[in-house]
Amino acid sequence: MTDVMDEITPDSMTDAPRPPEVTTWRREEIDGVVTLWLDVPGTGTNVISDTVLRELDGLIDHAAAAQARALVLRSAKPSGFAAGADIDAFAGLDRDAALTLLHQGHAVLDKLAALRCPTVAVIHGNTLGGGLELALACDHRIGLDGVKAGFPEVQLGLHPGLGGTFRLTGLIDPVEAMQAMLTGKSIHDKKAKRLGLIDALVPERHADAAIEAAIAGRLERTERDLKASALRTAPARSIAATRMRQEAEKSAPLQHYPAPTALINLWQDHGGDPDAMQKAEIASFAELLQSAAAQNLIRVFFLRRSLKSGAGETSGIAHVHVIGAGAMGAEIAAWSALRGKRVTLEDVALEPLGQAVRNAVDLYKRKHLKSIDARDALDRMMPDPTGLGRARADLVIEAAPEKADLKEKIFASLVDTMKDGAILATNTSSLRLQSLYDAAPDPARFAGLHFFNPVSKMPLVEVVAHEAVAQATLERLAAFVGELDRLPVQVRDYPGFAVNRILAPYLMEAMTMLDEGMDKHEIDRAALAFGMPMGPVTLADQVGLNICLEVARSLQNGLEDAMPKVPEWLAEKVEKGETGKKAGKGLYDWQGDTPPQSAGPARQGDDVAMRLTDRLILPMCNAAVECLRERVVATADELDAAMIFGTGWAPFRGGPIQYARQRGDVPQALEALARQHGARFTPDAGWSDLA
Ligand code: NAD
Repeated sequence: MTDVMDEITPDSMTDAPRPPEVTTWRREEIDGVVTLWLDVPGTGTNVISDTVLRELDGLIDHAAAAQARALVLRSAKPSGFAAGADIDAFAGLDRDAALTLLHQGHAVLDKLAALRCPTVAVIHGNTLGGGLELALACDHRIGLDGVKAGFPEVQLGLHPGLGGTFRLTGLIDPVEAMQAMLTGKSIHDKKAKRLGLIDALVPERHADAAIEAAIAGRLERTERDLKASALRTAPARSIAATRMRQEAEKSAPLQHYPAPTALINLWQDHGGDPDAMQKAEIASFAELLQSAAAQNLIRVFFLRRSLKSGAGETSGIAHVHVIGAGAMGAEIAAWSALRGKRVTLEDVALEPLGQAVRNAVDLYKRKHLKSIDARDALDRMMPDPTGLGRARADLVIEAAPEKADLKEKIFASLVDTMKDGAILATNTSSLRLQSLYDAAPDPARFAGLHFFNPVSKMPLVEVVAHEAVAQATLERLAAFVGELDRLPVQVRDYPGFAVNRILAPYLMEAMTMLDEGMDKHEIDRAALAFGMPMGPVTLADQVGLNICLEVARSLQNGLEDAMPKVPEWLAEKVEKGETGKKAGKGLYDWQGDTPPQSAGPARQGDDVAMRLTDRLILPMCNAAVECLRERVVATADELDAAMIFGTGWAPFRGGPIQYARQRGDVPQALEALARQHGARFTPDAGWSDLA
């Protein structure tokens, strides 16, 4: 033992070559244990770039030459280990360039995996994509409390490309591994331990002891069970793969998303053979990168980043007062508290306030908040039936029912109550701000803050301007949205603002089709086949037919020609209380009659289905062009992003404008629809600018 210790004392390493100069890692050495802290300069989040890997390569060589006792990889960033690979680097690569980059990356990770001394990754926070692949190439993984490990590549139309496919399926139950890669969902700390993805889960203060235990081989690993071993055989994998394909087809049909199928094939063909799977992974990744779906989804990733950066600096908003604790107000309050804001929540009735607290408890559970963090968030969210918070808040958000006179009354009651400099925002989805701002205590500090339902899932928030608002108000609101980890898009006061203006024709055309006697399932399937997350009939029921009616009527007032007529039976249904999913009955009977979840068998070449799809989708493209011409949103990119993040608009198609650009014949197709179905399909005057 003494001999061994002598060999690794720092003195014996003095003859070793000097460690290479690096910029993205910080090297530390104590008693022969080399710790490499990943700390990419100029950013709060590590990404695994070409430079990170090249520098790691040199550091591994040095550790091997110096006979390090162990090599430990950690991250110096509080946000996590690493958020994944550097997407900018491979966005525009052709196949050959991608292959070269992939082979280089794999060589580094293979070298890490082959290092003779023990290697330990200590992972915390977000450990995603390429970051997780680095950790998987180590002998041991120690998770710090709260770690979230996952492979989100599928959201970019890809699968893991730095060894993740064969290393994860080789380490844990392959079905769990495939599930994680196919859904892109992160595996949270306790589950990661249970699955054996990490060898130990410890609080930060026990990290050093856990590292020592790992180096000494004293960490007990969760072994894979019999089922996992059985999946090493091809027939067992084939059965499991068939099931996976059926599941994947429901959420991400092959016709639109090639990545899940490519990943399943990879595992089915090579699951028992890591070397073959590695080769196949590289080839498959390079192939997927060239697909239209991946290119569009990577664009969506950039759009998200650009909306995020539009949020700007700090809002100066610490205390939010929400008026109305219904479907929207309750979630806005719970979400704001989760994001660290002090929240007071007011309602005329007590029952919604109690319900709002119960919903917040559920939400924090769903979001895997630690119990102490959930308790703190609940402490920050105070039910306030008498409205004491109105005078203390930096921002008052009105989320009362969609009635202009009620909202005006609430605004009037805030005059001389709100504190100096505070902002008033309304969550209205269909009322024009031009008709509301006079009632606000100070029109310059009044704007729209249009959240989407459910707030905890929909990332977009429209920040709505009007002619009397101050620019500073809009900037503070955008910053506030960013602080809530939502994506702000600046829009002008316009019927339906941007998102509902574009979405309404989709819903209303479906009503017209129902009016013509078409089958609701058929209508929904036509939209699903295009790649919409939900058919328009189902969506109308989800949103609530009463809300659809309000939005349709308000749009009808501003844009008569462009909108389908609202059928009379819709208002009658609303009056009868058949307002949709919440009521148990709407266009579907939600007790027995299930809306389609997928488009079913592909209907390519089916002209009728195609024309049905065009009738639903092209009016959205037309409305998007109108919004650009009317400068409701500043750029086509922001508009595409708004539709994707506000409604889930077929992301692999890149948004309504991107789709129209790629397809090329949308104005002509609209003209044909106008001849057949009426003037509402007439191409907007803005199409010529788009060309
Ligand atoms: P809701 O009916 O679920 O909730 C409204 C709440 O306001 C109720 O709890 C009610 O008791 C309370 N309220 C009524 N009068 C009040 C008053 N004077 N002071 C305080 N509270 C009062 O409504 P919702 O669906 O949450 O919608 C609220 C606003 O958000 C509307 O303007 C709506 O257009 C908008 N919006 C709704 C959605 C949606 O999908 N539901 C989406 C985006 C925006």
